[in-house]
Formats: sequence, C-alpha cells, structure tokens
Amino acid sequence: MKSYDWIVVGGGITGAALSYELAKKGFTVLLLEKYPTLKGATRYSYAILPYWSGTTDLTNQLFQEAKERHNYLSEELEADTQFRELDLLLTIALKDDPEKIAATFNHYNTVPRLISVQEACEMEPLLNKEAIAGALTVRDGHVSPEATTLAYSQAFTRLGGQIEIAEVTGLVKTGDNATHPYHERITGVYTKGKTYHAANVVICAGGISRYFLKSVGIPTRVYFTHAEMLEIPPVELQLNTTVFTAVEKRLNCEAATSTVEFEQMWDEPGHEFVPFSLDAGAIQFKNGSIRIGQISRVLTDPHAKIDPVQSEVAMRSEIGKILPALENLPATWHHCLIAYSADNLPLIGAIPNQEGIHIFSGFSSPFIFVPPLAKRFANYVAGENDEIIQQLSPSRFV
Ligand SMILES: Cc1cc2nc3c(=O)[nH]c(=O)nc-3n(C[C@H](O)[C@H](O)[C@H](O)COP(=O)(O)OP(=O)(O)OC[C@H]3O[C@@H](n4cnc5c(N)ncnc54)[C@H](O)[C@@H]3O)c2cc1C
Repeated sequence: MKSYDWIVVGGGITGAALSYELAKKGFTVLLLEKYPTLKGATRYSYAILPYWSGTTDLTNQLFQEAKERHNYLSEELEADTQFRELDLLLTIALKDDPEKIAATFNHYNTVPRLISVQEACEMEPLLNKEAIAGALTVRDGHVSPEATTLAYSQAFTRLGGQIEIAEVTGLVKTGDNATHPYHERITGVYTKGKTYHAANVVICAGGISRYFLKSVGIPTRVYFTHAEMLEIPPVELQLNTTVFTAVEKRLNCEAATSTVEFEQMWDEPGHEFVPFSLDAGAIQFKNGSIRIGQISRVLTDPHAKIDPVQSEVAMRSEIGKILPALENLPATWHHCLIAYSADNLPLIGAIPNQEGIHIFSGFSSPFIFVPPLAKRFANYVAGENDEIIQQLSPSRFV
C-alpha cells in the first residue's frame, strides 16, 4: 500500500504552492484537485501584491520576504508568473473628506500618497474627474494568478510530485475516538472509488475548507464570502493603473461576521449576516483583459444561488461612475468562494485536537502571503523552528 508523506487537498494558489514547497523539502506529496482546470477563487483573482500594507512586525516581515521571493519566483519555477509593479489608485468618493480618508492609511508600513483629482486623472486618464474627491497612490506588485499557480504546479511535478484530478469526499480515520479523542488519527482521504494514504493531510480547499472540514466532523474558524466579478476579454483600451475605492467595504463585512457570536450559525444554511458589499475596482492584465468588481456576500450556504443579472447591473453601474469607459464593455460574470479568518491572518498548521490533519487557508491576500508562508510551513514540518508559523496556528482561535 503506497503511503505519501503529505496529501494536499485543493490545487488553487495555496495548494499548488504548498505542494511545491513540501516536495522541495524531499517529502512525497500527492495533490488532489477536483477540477482539471482552475475554477476556484484563484481563477478570478486580481492577484495584487500589496506589499506596502504591512501593519505589524509579522506582516512587514512576510511582505518583505514576498517582495524578494516574487522577484525570482519565475526563475525558480522556470515559468513566467508575469510579476510586475503597477501604480495603485485608491479613489476617494465625493462624499468623503480626502484628508480624513488619507489618515486611515497612516498605520501602513508605506503610507499611500494623497493626490489631487487632477493628478489622479493624469495618472489614469480613464478616471471620471467628476466622481472623485481625490485619490491615494502607492506602488503595488502584480502577478497572473493562473500563470503563478500553473508555474508552482508544474515545478511540483518536475520534483516528482503527483497530481490527481479527483474530489476528496472524506477522510480516512484510524484509532478509537470512543475511548479517547486524541487516539483517532487521519491517515488518508477518500475520493469516489479510491482511498489514498498519507502520514499527513493538509486542506487547501479555499472557501469550501470550512464546509468540507465540518462535513467530516472537524470544526474550524475559517469563513467564506461569495465573491462576484466581471471579466472583460482582451481590449484595446488601456488602463495605466489599478483602480480601487479607498474605503473597502468587504473588510468590514468580514470583520463583523467572523466574531464568536456567529460561530454556530455559520454551520446552518440560510443566513446572510450583513448586506452584501460592492467595492468598485478594476485591473488590466498583461494580455489586455480586465477584471472588475467586486461583490462580496456573506451567505452561510456555500451552494447558495446568486442572481447574476442583478449583480452585473450593480457592478457595471458602480464601476461606470469611476471608469465610465468600462461600464458597457462585453464581460462575463463569475462567482466563487473566498476564505477569510477572524484576524485577517491565515490559519496554518495542525488542526487542534486532531492528529494528521492540517489546514493552510483563510488568507486575506494569498498572492503576497503564500510564497513566504508555504516555504516556511514546509521548513517547519521538516523540523525547523518558526515562530511565525507557530503564531498562525489555528489553535489561536480555540
Ligand atoms: C475578484 C477577486 C479578486 C481578488 N483579488 C485578490 C488580490 O488582489 N490579491 C490576492 O492576494 N488575493 C485576491 N483574491 C483572493 C484570492 O484570489 C483567493 O483567496 C485565493 O485565490 C484562494 O486560493 P485557494 O487556493 O485558497 O482557493 P481556491 O483558488 O478556491 O482553490 C481551492 C481549490 O480546492 C479545490 N477543492 C475544493 N474542495 C475539494 C475537494 N473536496 N477535493 C479536491 N479539491 C477540492 C477546488 O476545486 C479549488 O481548485 C481575489 C479573489 C477574487 C475572487
């Protein structure tokens, strides 16, 4: 019976990067992914790397490591991640006081610069000068989410890692939970018709991680939003900058809904704890395609049906106020789940009170957090001490 050192469940950016780093440390790794092509949040991501936005020693250190890592990731993975730097423009609504909004950014490691409407329009000629009171600007990193994930997956298989396209339907448990809960150990996973064995299983299933773990009797404090965006196929029109609203409502929704009081209700379908948020933003990729959005809904049912028609109208109207040239371009509506945690930091490591099962999910900004943390996690499980990995353990929520 073949047994792996690690089984990784989910092949989005988190699972692909972690599989690669574990294989690089010499572990035997099987990555199980439900779909042959990307369909999760990674597929629809903007993949911005806000390395200016550290607020603590921990995030400053990780963002610095991420910045260095992204600079040579293409070379290391032998495939182009399309890493580049871009100007970010954070637009300030007419109703808001630019100075007051700017002050809310003072705690970031690099404070974005407040600029006038005129300067903002010079940087981004597609901006509607009648719709903003000013803007903040800072340099951001950017990668292609698909290219980066593919680069990690291909580098993983070159190292001898194995990828199987199959949905994990359950966890193999051995031992006797009846006499002592800690005697039970996860020793593998089930897919339809097959059983795979491993010393360790790590869940990288993005927004479905909580639901999946709950379905096998393991509670975790990781949550999810239903995200919606519009994708415009490659166009001639050119955005010089990435554009977002300075006040990101999604973050308030996440903070309000990840408190202990909602914990039990999260496992009941049918709740919508707060009204949906719509944060107008747009980014153009190297091939000329544009992603715009974004609606975030906190619905406890991961399979909830969403009306794309109303959402599309709302997103077009909101982006049209700031970037009128984008409002009526042909676009396709997409929907996915995004994981988040109660403190904006990921859950990384062994799930408390369980043996053999780990989580690597709940990243607020995975494209910046994952490259350094996947590497640190692999080093940690290979025996290296790492205080950052310890701090990110899911046990901090127990
Ligand atoms: C519109 C939008 C904009 C975003 N902008 C940014 C940004 O600028 N910067 C940033 O860093 N992040 C951004 N994000 C967030 C980021 O894209 C996601 O958090 C990230 O891609 C999640 O990666 P993941 O690997 O955790 O999950 P996913 O990409 O969802 O991957 C999870 C994978 O697990 C698989 N899976 C699930 N269950 C099973 C199972 N039982 N068996 C086998 N496989 C399974 C799924 O098929 C899926 O492929 C954005 C997201 C969206 C939607």
